[in-house]
Amino acid sequence: MHKKTLVEIIELLNKKQVSSEEVVSGCLKQIEKNSHLNALNYVNSEDALESAKKIDKRLQKGEKLGLLAGVPIVLKDNICVQGIPTTCSSKMLQNFVPQYTATVVRKLLEQDAIIIGKANMDEFAMGSSNETSYKGKVLNPVNNEYVPGGSSGGSAASIAADFAYAALGSDTGGSIRQPAALCGVVGVKPTYGTVSRYGVVAFASSLDQVGPITKTAQDAALIFKIISGKDELDTTSCGDSNLKLNQDFSFKGRKIGIPKEFFDQITDNDVKNTMNQELKKLENQGAEIIELSMKTLEYAMPTYNVLASAEAASNLSRFDGIKYGYRSDNFDDLLSIYFKSRSEGFGYEVKRRILLGNYMLTSACFEKYYIKAQKVQTLIKNTFLQAFEKCDLIVTPTSATPAFKFGEKQNDKVAMALSDVFTVPVNIAGNAAISIPAGLSSKGLPIGLQIIAPHFGEQMMFDAAQAYERLSK
Ligand code: GLN
Repeated sequence: MHKKTLVEIIELLNKKQVSSEEVVSGCLKQIEKNSHLNALNYVNSEDALESAKKIDKRLQKGEKLGLLAGVPIVLKDNICVQGIPTTCSSKMLQNFVPQYTATVVRKLLEQDAIIIGKANMDEFAMGSSNETSYKGKVLNPVNNEYVPGGSSGGSAASIAADFAYAALGSDTGGSIRQPAALCGVVGVKPTYGTVSRYGVVAFASSLDQVGPITKTAQDAALIFKIISGKDELDTTSCGDSNLKLNQDFSFKGRKIGIPKEFFDQITDNDVKNTMNQELKKLENQGAEIIELSMKTLEYAMPTYNVLASAEAASNLSRFDGIKYGYRSDNFDDLLSIYFKSRSEGFGYEVKRRILLGNYMLTSACFEKYYIKAQKVQTLIKNTFLQAFEKCDLIVTPTSATPAFKFGEKQNDKVAMALSDVFTVPVNIAGNAAISIPAGLSSKGLPIGLQIIAPHFGEQMMFDAAQAYERLSK
């Protein structure tokens, strides 16, 4: 039963062919059996079972319940739920229990979903392999010797290992799509502003978006529809997506853009072959493949490094050992509380980015780096706008390589950053994108295909993704 998709399990629950208690118990068994994956920081077993029993009673009475009634869901551990620890996989927040619930979680709970656990992640969402987590690495369920990707590695592994029927992650530079690709599941970064960030621990506020990780594009569309929409508590959030589920879609006559600069960067033969093969499939369906030149994308990574580090340095300044979070025992005055708490509470990668970010924000560098990066961001946005005048959707691999082994890229920041070359430009431009399983490498590791849509183009993105999924079946 744990193998079912979200849409399938909802149907079984609605037809009363299975109870929520059975569904939740099944997932808890999966979690226990696969605890070696280290995918969850917290298992909400008692609460989840109790909620399931309550929902079963209400279903028995014939009450009309929400769309996700009785369905277990996993949340990345940077998404707050009142009364449940939110650690961001950092020593800094190891004992933090939020007083409030994120809007995305409130929306899931309003549809009677059940929170079954909080997922391990790279510390404060900084990483591409889950190796920066203070809670230890997450193993890729497909092959335990490989990384699950990051930073939402625990969320992606949870779906690949059937711990729940949907998970939420956050994506600042690829953190939903890249782990989804590496674990062989579906991951979506919605258009910037479509999903509220209230109650989600901020990394780089101008890039962060919350989105679903699921087994199918159909499941992801349903979760997106539920969590998106205007929220008074997040001023960057905008109106309803008006997404229509399960629309007909044909690739016939659709223009699919292929950025030449991206494809030149694929060095992995398995990824290259898979992409060529999948593009042929779309062509056979009547799609027109259009080669695009998007030269400014070559500046996306440096732009991201400046913007994301500067915003992270600013956002993470609140962890000072005074207001909340970890405080060192070993201080003699106010300044040493700051120094010691931050030195001991943050891991290496987080400190590296805070240092870099604060440097970018100094008066000597602000114009030279931060303002310049914002200008390049506008150029990259315009490049995408121009590209979408020529095509309906853009297709790329999600990641330049399939999953890699633990330790392989940990000391090589350039190689690690290559994990994100195809995903980062989408965050910089604010567009929507989905990663869908496209096949396996010669070593049996999943390869993801990314479909990028224009701003607020979620309808066509989900429709095309579902059509593509049907083709692959
Ligand atoms: N891997 C990227 C980074 O480390 C993206 C992280 C993210 O999207 N949260 O910055």
